[in-house]
Amino acid sequence: MGLIEEAKAGKITPEMEIVAKDEGKTPEFVRRGIASGKIVIPVSPYRETKRMGIGKGLRTKVNATVGTSSDIVDVEMEIKKAKAAEETGADTLMELSTGGDFFEIRKRVVENTTLSVGSVPLYQAFIEAIRTYGAGVDMTEDDLFRITEEQAKLGTNFMAIHTGINRICIDRIKRQGGRYGGLCSRGGAFMVAWMLHNDKENPLYSDFDYLLEILKEHEVTLSMGNGMRAGAVHDATDRAQIQELIINSELADKAHDFGVQTIVEGPGHIPVDEIEANVKVMKRLSGEKPFYMLGPLVTDIAPGYDHMVAAIGASLSSAYGADFICYVTPAEHLALPNVDDVKEGVMASRIAAHVGDMIKNGTRDQDLAMGRARRDMRWNEQFDLAIDPETAAKIRSERAPADSKVCTMCGDFCAHKIVAENIDLRK
Ligand code: SF4
Repeated sequence: MGLIEEAKAGKITPEMEIVAKDEGKTPEFVRRGIASGKIVIPVSPYRETKRMGIGKGLRTKVNATVGTSSDIVDVEMEIKKAKAAEETGADTLMELSTGGDFFEIRKRVVENTTLSVGSVPLYQAFIEAIRTYGAGVDMTEDDLFRITEEQAKLGTNFMAIHTGINRICIDRIKRQGGRYGGLCSRGGAFMVAWMLHNDKENPLYSDFDYLLEILKEHEVTLSMGNGMRAGAVHDATDRAQIQELIINSELADKAHDFGVQTIVEGPGHIPVDEIEANVKVMKRLSGEKPFYMLGPLVTDIAPGYDHMVAAIGASLSSAYGADFICYVTPAEHLALPNVDDVKEGVMASRIAAHVGDMIKNGTRDQDLAMGRARRDMRWNEQFDLAIDPETAAKIRSERAPADSKVCTMCGDFCAHKIVAENIDLRK
């Protein structure tokens, strides 16, 4: 019996208890969330992982992605990136290799993390078709489902699957007159190319029932890919994107009814004034399924700083109700991320998730304690409360003040010191 069936039967499982304790909720709250499809706990019968819930009422979670490319295949570096992501506080890890030996890389990464791991089976199926048949568009439907099952057996907890791109979406994007930024989803581009070349419907859509059987058998959580997401802010919230969201929302209901835990993915590139609408429309259409926001990037002109751009978008999307955010690194749009990029990306996303949770869940105790610790110049307490204590302590110690109560920013003219010497403002 899967988690949804157990939740619907009123049973509280050990996974639900762990998530409830971690989130300060009752096990019954988590059970109801899973039964209604508003919360998921990605599990795998093939691997023990840190139990972690995603969805309504829970802390916003952060995903980090690792994986090789066709240009850079360095398995040891991917393992270092996976470890760095976990150490920096990522909640999940997606292994998205597109170069090298897929089986070996995923196996090694999975062995080196305790986090829930996600994958995109379409990447492997399409690229293996290039290697085997000479062209990705020659991938067979069987290849796609076989690889989905193979990846599940490696201990994959969730999979981004491009279920919602169908002929209507392709027609819609043509009828709307194209796009300024085209398609930025690799999986979306692969599937559209395959459908047009073969003049066939997307098998992940037309054979959705078979896909659900595989996912249910191996207890994989379905993350419904956003292949039509905008790759430029000028394309955000267009008809093609909304069309795919409508289809994914319908399929998400079907998946939940079948007993497959489901997340729905969102865009992409969205200007700030459209984020609230994107989150609310997604939540409304999908019956409040957990929403996985990819960023979003709120401007297109800051390559090198896209982790900051995405953090602005992620903080707003989380505040409006997104449950899960995919990190973006400074290398976005420029190169395969290295270990430092991964750390910066995870930290930026964690800050964004917290900013969102302050609004969405009212999570403010740590901020309140930090305000008091700063007022009272209790430095060690400030480090303990900091999201990255090591960096905070390092910066202070590298530029140490003459008076240990203050810092070298204002030195003798520290506002907190002056106030403390003249008036008691503590509360
Ligand atoms: S010296 Fe200035 S920046 Fe440093 S703690 Fe005091 S008021 Fe804050």
